[in-house]
Amino acid sequence: MTTPRPRQIAVVGAGITGSVLAMRLADRGHAVHLLERRPDPRAMTADGDRSINLALSHRGLQSLERVGLADAVRANGIPMRGRMIHDMSGSRTFSPYGIVPEHHLLSVSRSGLNRLLVEAAGQRPGIELSFDHHVTDIDLDAVEIDAQVTGGGTRRARYDAVFGADGAYSAVRQRLQRTASFDFEQDFLEHGYKELTVPADAEGAFVMEPEALHIWPRGSYMLIALPNVDGTFTCTLFWPLEGHGSLATDADAALATLRRDFADAVGLMPQLDTEWREHPVGTLLTTRCEPWNLGGRVLLLGDAAHAVVPFYGQGANAGLEDVTLLMDDLDRHDDWAQAFDHFARTRKPHADALAQLALDNYVEMRDHVASRWFLMGQSVERGLHRLLPHRFIPLYTMVTFTSTPYGDAVRRAHRQMMVIRLAAILVGLVVVAVIALLLRLVL
Ligand SMILES: Cc1cc2nc3c(=O)[nH]c(=O)nc-3n(C[C@H](O)[C@H](O)[C@H](O)COP(=O)(O)OP(=O)(O)OC[C@H]3O[C@@H](n4cnc5c(N)ncnc54)[C@H](O)[C@@H]3O)c2cc1C
Repeated sequence: MTTPRPRQIAVVGAGITGSVLAMRLADRGHAVHLLERRPDPRAMTADGDRSINLALSHRGLQSLERVGLADAVRANGIPMRGRMIHDMSGSRTFSPYGIVPEHHLLSVSRSGLNRLLVEAAGQRPGIELSFDHHVTDIDLDAVEIDAQVTGGGTRRARYDAVFGADGAYSAVRQRLQRTASFDFEQDFLEHGYKELTVPADAEGAFVMEPEALHIWPRGSYMLIALPNVDGTFTCTLFWPLEGHGSLATDADAALATLRRDFADAVGLMPQLDTEWREHPVGTLLTTRCEPWNLGGRVLLLGDAAHAVVPFYGQGANAGLEDVTLLMDDLDRHDDWAQAFDHFARTRKPHADALAQLALDNYVEMRDHVASRWFLMGQSVERGLHRLLPHRFIPLYTMVTFTSTPYGDAVRRAHRQMMVIRLAAILVGLVVVAVIALLLRLVL
């Protein structure tokens, strides 16, 4: 394979996906212009970092490893070794995520991670960072980008290729939507979310078990809490957006339900009323679109290509894995049109599989995890995995702790379940036959 010539590249969006993508491309000798509509996070105080916590896992960490940042991220995260389920009476049950210590999630602050990535990108030769640059339009033929610069003025520049890593409401994708044969759909969840805080105690220590993802499943709504390195927990309440006691319309009724159904958690939230008033309500959506690329000139990655609801903890992990897979395709094809095309066609079915997994897991997290049957099923799965580590791998393990493509993991999990059901039927038949035989002998 010949060495590809260096190209002038625009990456739109200096989020998690865009920052890592910019570094990987710059490491290959390309000139990368990273455009971000927000102000430079490096100039902000640490207080501005309080936001969503991410559960990072294998796919994300592998991608960070390739830009030499996995250890730095690990040092700023807290391992979560399982779910801590809180029932209505305040009792807690711990259910491990896996069978070995490496089977844990890493709780990190999304804005903290983003800041670390931007800092690293800023130190990489070959990357020009432009904050306060809101991309407003793209000439797809000339590959020219128009950006509105905060404070006044516009900027236009020409590139060899444009990568849209600009999130769920991507401007790059919106431009592609105006081309022929581009399919796009978005589905908003009927539930939104609000972030709340459980502070540390007077000594700065955690007031709940730190190495766990806490869940208060309550049927049609739920609360989760992820630990932070400063001893606090960031809690996220997932709640209906409409109707009586909804997040958006009826604060008093919602707070009353919260105090009734999450009494042990609310008891640890002295700032509840203030945070409830001040923290915005977030919405959650799934997007599906196709094709993700326009020849070798434009490509969508991360949430811009496939936003998913957060209930499998995979959105950021999937965006980071996109970058790893794209680099593999760029290694295989000198022609970027072929590389983009192969990446987009082969990755899309797995992104769709993840979208469905994430939707299904919402029901599991807010409802099923509380049931004894669910916990028993999880123990059986762990037992089988321990007994037959290469033959039986739980779906959650494949998705979270391996690089098995999402769709392959789902198909394998279905096959495994069929074998287990068949085995259960066979065992049942044998038991009935033995009982029948014994009855004949005795009676
Ligand atoms: C409540 C919640 C919890 C989550 N939990 C997890 C989790 O546990 N694990 C996990 O893996 N994922 C989780 N996610 C998903 C994760 O946050 C996203 O998948 C991830 O942030 C996507 O990264 P991205 O870089 O592709 O997009 P984004 O993070 O959205 O970044 C896009 C960037 O592009 C910029 N931009 C947008 N438009 C323009 C424009 N026109 N011009 C220039 N710049 C622009 C934006 O300002 C932003 O910086 C969660 C999401 C939510 C909402």
